[in-house]
Amino acid sequence: MALACGREIRVRGIVQGVGFRPWVSRLAREHGIVGRVLNDALGVTIEAFGSTPALNSFVGSLEKEPPPAAEIAALEWKPIEALAPLGFEIAPSLAAAERRLAIPPEIATCDQCLAEIFDPSNRRYRYAFTNCTNCGPRFTIVRDVPYDRPATSMAVFPMCPACRQEYTTVTDRRFHAQPNACPVCGPRLRLLDAGAVQIHSDDPIRDAAQLIARGLVVAAKGLGGFHLVCDATSAAAVLRLRERKRREAKPLAVMVAGLPQAERIAILDERTRRLLTSPQHPIVLAPRRDGCELAQNIAPDNPLLGVLLPYAPLHHLLLDECARPLVMTSGNVTDEPIAYRNDEACARLGGIADAFLLHDREIVTRCDDSVVRVIAGAPTVLRRSRGYVPRPVLLQRRFDKPVLACGAQLKNTFCLAVNDQAFLGPHIGDLDNLEAFASFEESIVLMQRLLAVDPQIVAHDLHPDYLSTRYAKGRDGVVRIGVQHHHAHVASVMAEHDLKAPVLGVAFDGAGYGTDGASWGGELLLAEYTGFERIATLRPLALAGGDAAIRQVWRIGVAAVMDAYDGAPPRDVLARLRDVPEHALETVMTMIAKRFNSPLAHGAGRYFDAMAALALGIRHARYEGEAAMLLEHAHDGNVTSRFSYRIDEAAEPWQIDLRPAFREAAEALVAGHQPGELSSRFHNTLAHATAKVVRAAAERTGCRTVALTGGCFQNDRLASALLGLLSPSLDVYLPRNVPPGDGGIALGQAVVAAALSDGFGG
Ligand SMILES: [Zn+2]
Ligand SMILES: [Zn+2]
Ligand SMILES: [Zn+2]
Repeated sequence: MALACGREIRVRGIVQGVGFRPWVSRLAREHGIVGRVLNDALGVTIEAFGSTPALNSFVGSLEKEPPPAAEIAALEWKPIEALAPLGFEIAPSLAAAERRLAIPPEIATCDQCLAEIFDPSNRRYRYAFTNCTNCGPRFTIVRDVPYDRPATSMAVFPMCPACRQEYTTVTDRRFHAQPNACPVCGPRLRLLDAGAVQIHSDDPIRDAAQLIARGLVVAAKGLGGFHLVCDATSAAAVLRLRERKRREAKPLAVMVAGLPQAERIAILDERTRRLLTSPQHPIVLAPRRDGCELAQNIAPDNPLLGVLLPYAPLHHLLLDECARPLVMTSGNVTDEPIAYRNDEACARLGGIADAFLLHDREIVTRCDDSVVRVIAGAPTVLRRSRGYVPRPVLLQRRFDKPVLACGAQLKNTFCLAVNDQAFLGPHIGDLDNLEAFASFEESIVLMQRLLAVDPQIVAHDLHPDYLSTRYAKGRDGVVRIGVQHHHAHVASVMAEHDLKAPVLGVAFDGAGYGTDGASWGGELLLAEYTGFERIATLRPLALAGGDAAIRQVWRIGVAAVMDAYDGAPPRDVLARLRDVPEHALETVMTMIAKRFNSPLAHGAGRYFDAMAALALGIRHARYEGEAAMLLEHAHDGNVTSRFSYRIDEAAEPWQIDLRPAFREAAEALVAGHQPGELSSRFHNTLAHATAKVVRAAAERTGCRTVALTGGCFQNDRLASALLGLLSPSLDVYLPRNVPPGDGGIALGQAVVAAALSDGFGG
């Protein structure tokens, strides 16, 4: 047999588990190309043989129109001479190296599957588990690798002849679609009452929709866990859900049938529209449209709305049946992880839901909805979970030894890093309850198995009481490395953007354990991968009663005005801290004055709390970060002025002193100025003061690269203002694909630990 001339084409990017190989195979046939396609360690390799014009047009089509969930990062080819096969084949590829790439994230229902479930003549008409190689569940149903049906929770559903035919036909869009199913052979829905007793129903979706229309709460099993669902236009239904879920005020996500319906409740632009319809289908934060049909108590006092579009057939069918926006909030009691097993959901959500819409396709791993917001002009992932996990963050450097980074205590995610890939795990939530901690441990075990990674280095926060730290300390036979919280925040941005050290990192958050044991969080660091210098920090505030002050933000307001007035604030200023009983005020002032049970904290978040207490009269934060969020949303875009501040360069580290700002704010309030004006001036002041220390540090160190990160940079007003003040004369980077809050620090921990153990090469 003669050798044929052809091309070896290498494609890198998101090209595995997204229907890429079957698509290549179809494309090759269309262009009269023979050869083969296989997964390799970095993506996909294609060996193609045919005439030069055919090869040219084949390569052109590869680049132009990849399948919806695929993303081509690079495509290169070189000429080869080899034996050409007679047809075009999809070569088996089971090498260990590729296991890591092979498990894709969940992909929202594609247009073709959607058309089928609403087509009465189709065999999948109204079938809630319809999927194909371009869409459907992935990571949440996988038990093991390789990603093949027997290794998923679909193993218990043998395919009927029609499904098997699709699965084995290379030209079919269900060729090798692992969760392929139909009403004959696949999973089924059931409806249960509040006591978990099955209700006879010929159409569980229709019956669930009727319960929702009556104002009841239904727990519906989705892809990564249960949602609690109710009518988003009914204030009574929303109130019922809030009371039972013990979620007083935190905004609830709303799902609508499609983009036109989303436009009716939210003000969208090109970016938010694209995010809503992306294969990930995250919750997108967008301004709520005034006077829309939604109940006011969906997001009290909050102009932003969390909107998402249906991402599984079950949602499409439910939304169609209900014909109104639905609340779709995580199926849990506040602070617990999302329920994902049938028996567990019935037990834990029994007091919340009036009915359960269940199915018998097991969710192997819980995976909450992801959340994205446009911040300082670009989309930023605030919670990175379903649709993104387990897709790796690709780095330009390599981890010589596999690293497990255990993350923080709140909004926990962990990270497994190997070669040039960092795999962030699903959002686990706050580790301070047993359920969440169990979920953290289980997810680590599963991810290690799926990725075939056995970590040799375990990175953790310095806080001795974080459960993630304790977990790390309990891992034997590994090198354990503690990484300072804000260093990890900054290193996470450095890794994401492949920044050359050193970097001036602004890390503003609520709290993180400092190397001196104090609570940091208003930090400017000169950061390398291996260490940092603390150049500046915010002047600390006293937290009267410690953690109690974080909920009772009026206490922080008292601390800020006492500090601003040298311990003796005027009565008319204290009177702005509304509804605080006199005796409580006296007690807290005494505690602060005597420094009794009042640790000092540098967190920028505490200054937001203090100003919100003073300017908006907020006494209690009903959920973490509420006061800061209300302060952001109170701002008046027309106000460009600011308050005074001082930078104390004699202090070590330099200190950003906002006492003058609080005196001026207090006087402005007493003089009758509006809260919106104060909010704007506060944001402008913090941005201005930060820009000033960053510029001074750039001057001193010669470093021109700046990273802005920490939970405070979920605040668009702060991020935009500071970005505007620093760029373009400095190069400024923000977290984009990794959360700015504590959900993003595991990546930073991983790269710092690798660098410290000399295992993070260029
Ligand atoms: Zn599909
Ligand atoms: Zn079937
Ligand atoms: Zn933090």
